[in-house]
Amino acid sequence: LEPKEEFEHSSLAVDVMRPRRGDPALAVLTQDSMTIGEVETLVESTHYSGFPVVVSQESQRLVGFVLRRDLLISIDNARKRQDGIVSASLVVFTEHCPAQPPEAPPPLRLRGIIDLSPFTVTDHTPMDITVDIFRKLGLRQCLVTHNGRLLGIITKKDILKHMAQIANRDPDSILFN
Ligand code: ADP
Repeated sequence: LEPKEEFEHSSLAVDVMRPRRGDPALAVLTQDSMTIGEVETLVESTHYSGFPVVVSQESQRLVGFVLRRDLLISIDNARKRQDGIVSASLVVFTEHCPAQPPEAPPPLRLRGIIDLSPFTVTDHTPMDITVDIFRKLGLRQCLVTHNGRLLGIITKKDILKHMAQIANRDPDSILFN
């Protein structure tokens, strides 16, 4: 494989991903330790189209990705139609429910709406490769990891903004033409 000229221009996934330094932390859901109330508060306090699901806040191990729309529709439906579902119900994305005290309300099982294989790149993946993958796979977003820990997210719009910046800085860049 010939080294291409375009590689000289390339920034890395870590340069394009959000959150940036100083931004609020990545908004994530945990796989089996948040209540419906906590999920709703998180979702409603942001406008993001989707949320990574992790094993736990401490581990930040990626489990999957869930769309905001699917999450809100499922919670709404469950509240209307499923007996016993209340704000204190646990939201469970895993196959098996964690043990709960007998008096706990029934959990809301949402494994059906989670994408268990969201596309990921590592923080050091060059952006030209990431852009190529976005184009070829028609991605809307991809997650960024480091040593298996979730670090951030890159959306299609983040990439378009990044491309516009590069074009301004370097109009001769062949990278994104
Ligand atoms: P878009 O980039 O198309 O507007 P979003 O509304 O999902 O899509 O994202 C808006 C911005 O917030 C983007 O810069 C994206 O990288 C970032 N973002 C998306 N999801 C999250 C999340 N769960 N936590 C933190 N930032 C996010």
